[in-house]
Amino acid sequence: MTRPLGNSALAPFGATIFAEMSALAVQHGAINLGQGFPDTDGPREVLEAAKAAIDGGRNQYPPGPGVPELLGAIAAHQKRFYGLEVDPRSEVLVTVGATEAILATILGLVAPGDEVVTFEPYYDSYAASIALAGGERRPVPLRFPDWHIDEAALRAAFSDRTRMVLLNTPHNPTGKVFSRSEIDLICALAREHGAWVVTDEVYEHLTFDGAEHIAVASLPGMWDRTLTISSAGKTFSTTGWKVGWVSGPAEAVSAVRAVKQFTTFVGSGPFQPAVAVGLGLGDEVYAGLAASLQGKRDLLVAALQEAGLPVAVPQGTYFVIADAAPLGASDGLAFCRELPVRAGVVGVPVSVFCDDKEASRTLVRFAFCKRDEVLEEAVRRLSALRP
Ligand code: PMP
Ligand code: GLN
Repeated sequence: MTRPLGNSALAPFGATIFAEMSALAVQHGAINLGQGFPDTDGPREVLEAAKAAIDGGRNQYPPGPGVPELLGAIAAHQKRFYGLEVDPRSEVLVTVGATEAILATILGLVAPGDEVVTFEPYYDSYAASIALAGGERRPVPLRFPDWHIDEAALRAAFSDRTRMVLLNTPHNPTGKVFSRSEIDLICALAREHGAWVVTDEVYEHLTFDGAEHIAVASLPGMWDRTLTISSAGKTFSTTGWKVGWVSGPAEAVSAVRAVKQFTTFVGSGPFQPAVAVGLGLGDEVYAGLAASLQGKRDLLVAALQEAGLPVAVPQGTYFVIADAAPLGASDGLAFCRELPVRAGVVGVPVSVFCDDKEASRTLVRFAFCKRDEVLEEAVRRLSALRP
């Protein structure tokens, strides 16, 4: 008998929904509101800095932890926005996107049998990364449409085997920005159980209506047990550059670095100095991005509501979740697989991010980081599906 090919830990996962749906978008020439990536470029200075880095010969392996100016820029960013004093030499590690930071952090900290508490719907790489480490996920549901936390369910997810809470705020795919009191509760439970808090803050600058992003590491008593992950992809609209980072106490960053040495060793050479330039840009650049996305959110939310879909209005990220039941959806995955053909639009079924598939059966996530005319056309097409 031959053994099935492939790592058995990954057997439940298959191809990611983003790969599947982006391929369908290309195949059918559909508007891709599935995988989240902007259809316009970010700040010109950042793009020019990457070109200058290539022309300037920065095309070989960068140093393992990251290039010094990016490490310094990340530390300065944490100070500027959150008042954190971070040592760029020992408390920051540059990674190949937040994706590598998530994987290396989990492989670095989680041993087989350890439990990881996370909220569902969860970003897909969390489940796969936990599985690769031999850990067990303990999902706590956030329920459509207000995504509140059920305190009893959260408490029940913790045990003496909890190694880590994996938090994502602002949260993909719901657009929830966790409040101070929610984060305080999560942190109190983490402290009580001696668990690490790993906080994925890639959408830290994408918040709306004055919703405040809270950096977990900046809360009293949390620096010593928190690893913070972020990425240039969202902030500078450079998702293809794959520059991410993790920061936290030196010993924990060193455990992550130990893994990163053998996943990619280093990455994104000339893009690292360019991201350093981006992190140093003025507040108006950050505010401008959020304001532009808030307008797009308003456009898409209003249009989806007009089309008769119940919508959870996001406070952050560039995603919105709608209930597609009024368009005849009974199974979100099947609905999204048909949508490119039926309507020329691509969305992502929320159930693939959930253990409890029933609760999210007809929910679909749409990305709004697209030009207004693209969003308007997408909604025209979706509205045409109304019975
Ligand atoms: N975490 C979340 C919540 C995300 O939405 C993304 C987007 N891809 C990532 C991590 C991965 O970021 P990157 O593209 O920098 O690897
Ligand atoms: N973070 C983006 C999303 O959630 C892209 C995902 C990916 O490319 N793996 O759509």
